[in-house]
Amino acid sequence: MDAVVVSHRNILNNEYEIKLSAPPIANNAQPGQFVHLLVGDGYSPFIRRPFSIYKASADEGTFSIVYLARGSFTSGLARYSPGGKVSVLGPLGNGFNWHSNPHHRSVLVAGGIGAPPIHFLAERVHSIASEPKAVVINGARTRDLLVGVDDFARLPVMLHVLTEDGTHGMQGRVTDALDKLLKESLHIPSTIYACGPMGMLHAIGDIAQSYGVECQVSIETSMACGTGACYGCAVRVKDETGSRISLACCEGPVFRSDEYLWDEAV
Ligand SMILES: Cc1cc2nc3c(=O)[nH]c(=O)nc-3n(C[C@H](O)[C@H](O)[C@H](O)COP(=O)(O)OP(=O)(O)OC[C@H]3O[C@@H](n4cnc5c(N)ncnc54)[C@H](O)[C@@H]3O)c2cc1C
Repeated sequence: MDAVVVSHRNILNNEYEIKLSAPPIANNAQPGQFVHLLVGDGYSPFIRRPFSIYKASADEGTFSIVYLARGSFTSGLARYSPGGKVSVLGPLGNGFNWHSNPHHRSVLVAGGIGAPPIHFLAERVHSIASEPKAVVINGARTRDLLVGVDDFARLPVMLHVLTEDGTHGMQGRVTDALDKLLKESLHIPSTIYACGPMGMLHAIGDIAQSYGVECQVSIETSMACGTGACYGCAVRVKDETGSRISLACCEGPVFRSDEYLWDEAV
């Protein structure tokens, strides 16, 4: 559908949040799902690009995404003003299979531009969680690459912010904070939900396995059609025969970390 731009704000440096009016998407979006966007009206860009849903309001009929304007696609998107129209396909993908038990702890880990689906999930889990509170670990290499930190701070969650160079929050990596948290409170039944660079997700999967904690990761692999037709986003997961191909756009982008085969070529 063509979605109308409701607002578009520059958060910091090249980080933007664009809010679009699209009631069918806003009503049905689940944390971890994404939309497939196309900007412009020519042949360049030719293929859509995926963006995780950051916020969705069924009441307003709107949803938003947060992106870093880097290459030609996102720089083109940054030029849209309120009233403009963006072609949107969605919501796509499976989303997180999150616990609705208010006494189950959600540990949410966001690395860099992996923060958007984690923010959407944090909004949903905090609304049902009583005790223990959901934990959000938000990190990046440096302050300028930290995404969503002010919005996370507005939620009633236990927030840990880290940068590798110490320019914001604690100095260190999200994996340091996760390891410490699990070591100190392993008695609390928890599930880890994570999105960020593949190296970070792999390391989080290893930590989860070493503590015997369930972990779901949202992987951001490149994809073209977004609907399972082109096989451009094929990855490998475990099955009873050893392994099989899975399509990140429809069976993912969220996978159980103990089922995802990190090092195997497709
Ligand atoms: C599920 C998912 C969720 C995502 N969520 C977000 C998000 O919330 N925020 C965010 O900022 N980013 C997100 N991304 C990443 C985002 O889609 C791309 O990184 C972004 O479009 C890159 O835009 P760009 O303008 O920097 O580069 P582009 O100019 O779009 O592309 C850079 C280069 O990559 C090539 N390329 C692009 N797509 C493909 C493809 N499918 N196959 C092969 N080559 C390709 C282009 O031709 C170009 O050479 C997500 C990705 C996935 C898979």
